[in-house]
Amino acid sequence: MNYIFNFSREIINWFHFHGRKKLPWQINKNIYKTWISEIMLQQTQVEVVIPYFKKFLKKFSNIKKLSQSSLNDILFIWSGLGFYNRATNIYKAAQIIKKKHNNIIPKNFKDLIKLPGIGKSTAGAILSLTFNYFFPILDGNIKRVIQRFYNLNEKNYQLEKRIWKKLSNLLPIHNSGKFNQSMMDLGKIICTFKKPKCLICPLNIKCLTFIKKKFNIKNIHKKKKKIKCWFILIKYKNLFYLKQQKQKIWKNLYYFPIFYKKKKMFQWIKKKKIILKKKKNKKILYHLNNYTLSIKYFFTKINKKKNFISKNKKKIWFNTKNPQKIGIPAIVKKIFLERKKNKIKKKL
Ligand code: SF4
Repeated sequence: MNYIFNFSREIINWFHFHGRKKLPWQINKNIYKTWISEIMLQQTQVEVVIPYFKKFLKKFSNIKKLSQSSLNDILFIWSGLGFYNRATNIYKAAQIIKKKHNNIIPKNFKDLIKLPGIGKSTAGAILSLTFNYFFPILDGNIKRVIQRFYNLNEKNYQLEKRIWKKLSNLLPIHNSGKFNQSMMDLGKIICTFKKPKCLICPLNIKCLTFIKKKFNIKNIHKKKKKIKCWFILIKYKNLFYLKQQKQKIWKNLYYFPIFYKKKKMFQWIKKKKIILKKKKNKKILYHLNNYTLSIKYFFTKINKKKNFISKNKKKIWFNTKNPQKIGIPAIVKKIFLERKKNKIKKKL
């Protein structure tokens, strides 16, 4: 009898031996855990997500606890994970679940997709991974596997449309959840971004990219755009001045005054009557998905706070020794840490 290749069978069989089955959100699985993990996993690697997921579940063990919390409580736990819009969406979704769904997460696609931060793929992922419902998922790993398997070369929207179609045809009616998990795992473990392990891939006998040996690894790496910006670190006694920012990057988090034009920064300094007693101009590169921030920072110590007082809590004096429970981006933590290390070095 000739061997007949069957995509879903190959991949599910591979999963039985090699797939990931003990991730924290897979243990005692429920819709709440899957939802939080799926949001955290958007644009973030599993290894990075795990400690944040554990911390999140420890603080907000269920939807009731989550919906009673403030946005700041959530951002505080999220600090360092990046893409903070996701945390804001979780907060907004929890409020809707409380008000509209009596604190019960909807178990149907129609209501799930109406929640902030949940698109077609995430809604499918939540339902198929939790309840084995018949929905495909399209995350970065799956996209890569399908694109390579069929050797698809279309651009953006057209490509996405074709991948969705291919996936919908491949998805088995039984074991949909397992199929989706297998695809994600294969993309993560075998069909990797840089060096795919085609020789041990269960799909290799029919994979068009492998058959045609079309890999051009050099072309995969796109050079990221560099954006310059400046932070001003203002210190008063043991406190640092931070603002809750409304800018898209790190929205709703607290960080130093930030400027993208040097001229504007100096105008602000003048307005605030800051004298740069001690100037430090250190460059830090911070990599985001689509671009790299090239950050320089100026440091100054002030003796009076009067130009920086704010009645609302949008501008605060942050105590690095006894930190307030607020959301701050990883870069701010990194700067504090570096300053601490330099101080120790100087003393030695
Ligand atoms: S054979 Fe290679 S390129 Fe094709 S799906 Fe497998 S790992 Fe990816």
